[in-house]
Amino acid sequence: MENVADAGFGLCKNCNNTALFDLKKTTKKADLFFVPVAKWGAEYFLVCSTCDAGYEISEQQKDQLVNEMIERPDNKKMAEIWNKMDELLVNLMKQEVEIGKWQDVVHEKMSIEYKISDLDYIYRHYLKNLMKEQ
Ligand SMILES: [Zn+2]
Repeated sequence: MENVADAGFGLCKNCNNTALFDLKKTTKKADLFFVPVAKWGAEYFLVCSTCDAGYEISEQQKDQLVNEMIERPDNKKMAEIWNKMDELLVNLMKQEVEIGKWQDVVHEKMSIEYKISDLDYIYRHYLKNLMKEQ
């Protein structure tokens, strides 16, 4: 499988984690005298970085995802933001700050370093993961 792009966060039904996904592609090649002459039927998969489960998506879904990801940081940076946010939010939980104020604190503390739209994207996934665990 060939790596196409980082695909950001999603919920993996296999390992039940909010995990980072990679967009990968398989192609069937016909080789003539060791020269690839045709590629057809590329298949696209979202692959969970935690458990390696793959989910097939359509070409249209792939295009949409690639478009969305142009605006977003790569998976490495996503993980970095997630970890910092996690530290911050675990602290707020300990201090019993009400959940309605969390997003404001995230903006206040993290928007110097990161884009608000990236913070909100990751915050949404963080909350979804939290709700799942309760
Ligand atoms: Zn998984």
